[in-house]
Amino acid sequence: MAVVKCDFLVIAAGIIGVSIARELRRRHRAKVVVIEKESSAGQHASGRNSGVLHAGVYYKPGTLKARLCIEGNRRMREYCRLKGIPLNDNGKVIVARTAAELPALHELHARSLANGVRVDLVDEQALKEIEPCAKTVGRALYVKDTAVMNPQRVMAAIVADAIQEGVAFHLGCAWHSRAGVDCVKTSQGQIAYGHLVNCAGLFADQIAHAFDAGLHYCILPFRGQFYRLRPESKVQARFVLVGRCDEDNPTAIERYQLQQWRHEGVIEWWGHRDDMPVVFASTVKVFGETTVGCVDESWTPCPETPYARSKWAAEQFVMDYAKKIGFIAVSLRLPMVYGPTQKGNFFRMIAAIDQGRFPPLPHVNNARSMLHVGNFVHATKLALQQSRNGQPAYVVTDENPYEISEIYELLLTGLGKTIPKWRMPLWMLKMGSACGDMIQTATGRSVPVNSSTLEKLIGSAWYSAAAITRNLGYCPSYRFIDAVPEMIRFYRASLR
Ligand SMILES: Cc1cc2nc3c(=O)[nH]c(=O)nc-3n(C[C@H](O)[C@H](O)[C@H](O)COP(=O)(O)OP(=O)(O)OC[C@H]3O[C@@H](n4cnc5c(N)ncnc54)[C@H](O)[C@@H]3O)c2cc1C
Repeated sequence: MAVVKCDFLVIAAGIIGVSIARELRRRHRAKVVVIEKESSAGQHASGRNSGVLHAGVYYKPGTLKARLCIEGNRRMREYCRLKGIPLNDNGKVIVARTAAELPALHELHARSLANGVRVDLVDEQALKEIEPCAKTVGRALYVKDTAVMNPQRVMAAIVADAIQEGVAFHLGCAWHSRAGVDCVKTSQGQIAYGHLVNCAGLFADQIAHAFDAGLHYCILPFRGQFYRLRPESKVQARFVLVGRCDEDNPTAIERYQLQQWRHEGVIEWWGHRDDMPVVFASTVKVFGETTVGCVDESWTPCPETPYARSKWAAEQFVMDYAKKIGFIAVSLRLPMVYGPTQKGNFFRMIAAIDQGRFPPLPHVNNARSMLHVGNFVHATKLALQQSRNGQPAYVVTDENPYEISEIYELLLTGLGKTIPKWRMPLWMLKMGSACGDMIQTATGRSVPVNSSTLEKLIGSAWYSAAAITRNLGYCPSYRFIDAVPEMIRFYRASLR
């Protein structure tokens, strides 16, 4: 089969690929080829989305996202008018479900005004007049610049433009692999190119990885679901009704929901792909935030925070789903995992000790389980070999728990500092954290020292890894003391 040659090869024909191909052709008059695995363009996200023309309410003023959204909104309106594509230009209303959401609503109002979006803050009565189906508490945000259009019509118009400009479409043509330098193998033979543009939507990461690009990124897809109202339905909404009003700072419950959707999305995606066991990284927080004595899997979970509740719900979802589809799933309940990374509390603790901002901690005789990242990897490997009738969840920890002043001293020594002779009395720490709580309540801002951070230091969170040791032969070989030099090296390198 002869090799097709082109200047620009665009994979594939979603709205991004077709728009880029059309623009490349306009600007360069070069040979532009678009390949698409489906038999027509826009069969995935681009032709099956909600068609909302976003106004730019959520984005921080001055950011690229804000600028692109607002400029995109203006241009897409113009394009729809030019092509005779109907636009439902009624706007949208954002409501507050509780009074606690009102500050976020005001923040969105301020952001919208700063972004130049046409918005009004309306009261409950005015909302009823705008949209009788909506309810709010106190105030609602009426966004006039949001519109809805038919994405399939937009897609068809852009494809027609691209064809008219001279872009060549190879439909039913899937990218398979690289074929030497500047050439790819497709289901319809080889294509040699000058430049390759990867717009393969949810598969863009796989293609990028084949070119050694973005190796640290992968796409986690989410499924969207639409409901169509029956014609006889009493709901006759003219507006887009949106309940969530703070995208950047979701409330605890929203965060819980997001976590939940993420977990469910990933697991459904995985469950259909492979028959390898699934190891779900859960948390010991499913047992609560602190412990009295040593806790193991025989304890009934009672998660207290949204994070822990979402993990517990996800654990159950994974197990049910595994049963339904017929794959093996194991949840590993993890305490704080540490290693050379900027994430987590240790990096901040090392920085605070290094800069003399950390109080000399007293001996409090608490017991905190933690997990070296190397031990986590070891446990994961063992869990992957779990048989069908194995235990569904295991607690994984380093061999022994740690006492907080022991950790403090190891970090001090690792940083080359002398262990102080005096210790701050516990009552003084407690007083400091109570002051932190008061400042937090008065200002509404979080402060570094409060009773929750103190609890993390002096409270006990002690768990047993006996079951995984007994059943799967888990044998932790790393301890905190082994990780300290590496963590300190990482911290120092990050200062350069
Ligand atoms: C449920 C849902 C609702 C949404 N609502 C909105 C909204 O209201 N407003 C908004 O602005 N955005 C919305 N979005 C987002 C928007 O739809 C996407 O950002 C946009 O369509 C992405 O376009 P794309 O071209 O990158 O991807 P896609 O449209 O997914 O196109 C990727 C193309 O790559 C092709 N492909 C994949 N692998 C290969 C291969 N190996 N070889 C050849 N071809 C391949 C696929 O067949 C597909 O045609 C929504 C998305 C979803 C899922």
